[in-house]
Amino acid sequence: MLELEKVFNRIDGYRDEIISLQKELTARVALGPDNGGTGEHDKAAFLKESLKKLSPDILEEINAPDERARYGYRPNIVAIWEGQDASSRVWALSHTDIVPPGDLSLWKTDPYKATVEGDIITGRGVEDNQHGIVSSLLAMKAILECGIKPKKTVALAFVADEETGSRYGLEYLLKNRGDLFNPEDIIIVPDGGNSDGSMIEIAEKSMLWIRFTVTGKQCHASTPGEGRNSLYGAARLIVALEGLKTSFGLTDDLFAPPESTFESTKIEANVPNVNTIPGKDVFYMDCRILPRYRVDDIINEIKKITVKIEKELQLSVNVKPVHRQDSANPTPAESPVVVSLAAAIKRVKGIDARPMGIGGGTVAAFFREQDLPAAVWVTSPDTAHQPNESCPISDIISDAKVFAHVYLE
Ligand SMILES: [Zn+2]
Repeated sequence: MLELEKVFNRIDGYRDEIISLQKELTARVALGPDNGGTGEHDKAAFLKESLKKLSPDILEEINAPDERARYGYRPNIVAIWEGQDASSRVWALSHTDIVPPGDLSLWKTDPYKATVEGDIITGRGVEDNQHGIVSSLLAMKAILECGIKPKKTVALAFVADEETGSRYGLEYLLKNRGDLFNPEDIIIVPDGGNSDGSMIEIAEKSMLWIRFTVTGKQCHASTPGEGRNSLYGAARLIVALEGLKTSFGLTDDLFAPPESTFESTKIEANVPNVNTIPGKDVFYMDCRILPRYRVDDIINEIKKITVKIEKELQLSVNVKPVHRQDSANPTPAESPVVVSLAAAIKRVKGIDARPMGIGGGTVAAFFREQDLPAAVWVTSPDTAHQPNESCPISDIISDAKVFAHVYLE
């Protein structure tokens, strides 16, 4: 316990260090080529130098070839410090890439110059995912500065390409260096959570995006009998699809919301003028499906509903899944990663954290697909991807303590 106190005191003194790291990282713009940038090279190189100063036993750069990026690759950095017991590792995996700032007029400051006001740092990337990078890194730094060898082997990974699919990031790492990870490891992804840090994400719903193309016959609006109105068809179909909510209506309290969701979202432009009945309409649906249901069963039900509307209205409807990610098995609520995170959160913040499920879309799914139990956790007011993205310094300090507790205990 004395060791822990020493490390916590050290972390309490890291305010200036946090600000300086955040400024350096924010200034090295890490936009992937799909987001109009040149990749993560400069940011990763800076991190590699910072890690070197902490003399890890292993410091590796695993580069995923990508011609579009600076120097032709996307860098993934791994640093490992051997602990007293080297049989399993504690991983903290964060991503270096960011999303574009969007409409600059909505920013009060330059998104690439991190600014500080009291406890709040503002800038693109300070939360997503530099909060995770800085807190996991400073926890290790504090332990080393106190002259302590952690009980467990500690591994930090800073990966590329999280924001645009992870093909050059975690997916590449697992495909080419899967040997780094072990089912006994504790794997934490500090890239999603809630504002008091009480949510440990262990499960995700399946994700399914569907494009519906409704084809009728265009005609003048004054003579509807000569055409078949595709917008009316789309509207009827959207209403009929509400039936999915009852057909697949079971709930699971692990998730918030506890039910599967089926929502019509985007609709493409049809005719440009008011006095034409449209002959073609395209709309989309976003489905988040509880792991208990098979995605194929949902698609089959959607097709059945569609055929009924087609027959009734004499229209044709094309149903095309445009994105699909089937949920992997949840990380068990009693697995070591959840238990040690919950113990650390209790000690540092004095609250009981709860394992929960979310709507999907984190990189933890890649781990879970390979039966590597990963948990997503961070203390975050969730300003990611928004203008004036910001992050409380006090949250980075408390999260660094949680990491230190997990590394040491
Ligand atoms: Zn992120």
